[in-house]
Amino acid sequence: MNEKSHITGTLINYYFHCHRQLWLFHRHIKCEQESDTVYLGKVIHEHSYEREHKELEIDELKLDFFDLRDGVLHEVKKSDKWREAHEWQVLYYLYMLKKKGIDNIRGELNYPMVRQTVSVELTPEKETALQQVIQHIEDILAQKLPPPIEVRKSLCRTCSYYELCYI
Ligand code: SF4
Repeated sequence: MNEKSHITGTLINYYFHCHRQLWLFHRHIKCEQESDTVYLGKVIHEHSYEREHKELEIDELKLDFFDLRDGVLHEVKKSDKWREAHEWQVLYYLYMLKKKGIDNIRGELNYPMVRQTVSVELTPEKETALQQVIQHIEDILAQKLPPPIEVRKSLCRTCSYYELCYI
């Protein structure tokens, strides 16, 4: 993989939600409405940890904030429902920063609404697993047609592509 990647943290996140969602989003196909949930997420991002909040862009990566004093990269999330996906997203950021020579940092997931903090560390095992995830994402994105519908009703009902997939 090149230093610069077209894979974003959002794509990593969607990979763990639904492969079809990942493919559609990457093709810039959007049915997103400005739902209350989306709005709430934006408000939380803008107002949580306001003092420390310094959103940072490095190539394709959009980091919520990176505290240079203690080398902690923070990712703020509304709910911990998709914690596994969130952890892989942070691992991906740590991995890409490492490839840019920014090493010895750790990640932290912040869930202000449930007052939880989860520490994330890029171990050698996680790095190997992440490389496999990245390769699988590349394979999915290279497909000419979207992956089949994954029938996961609780996810589909709240997905912005629901109408596209089911109606
Ligand atoms: S509606 Fe369901 S199958 Fe379709 S993209 Fe969303 S999660 Fe995937």
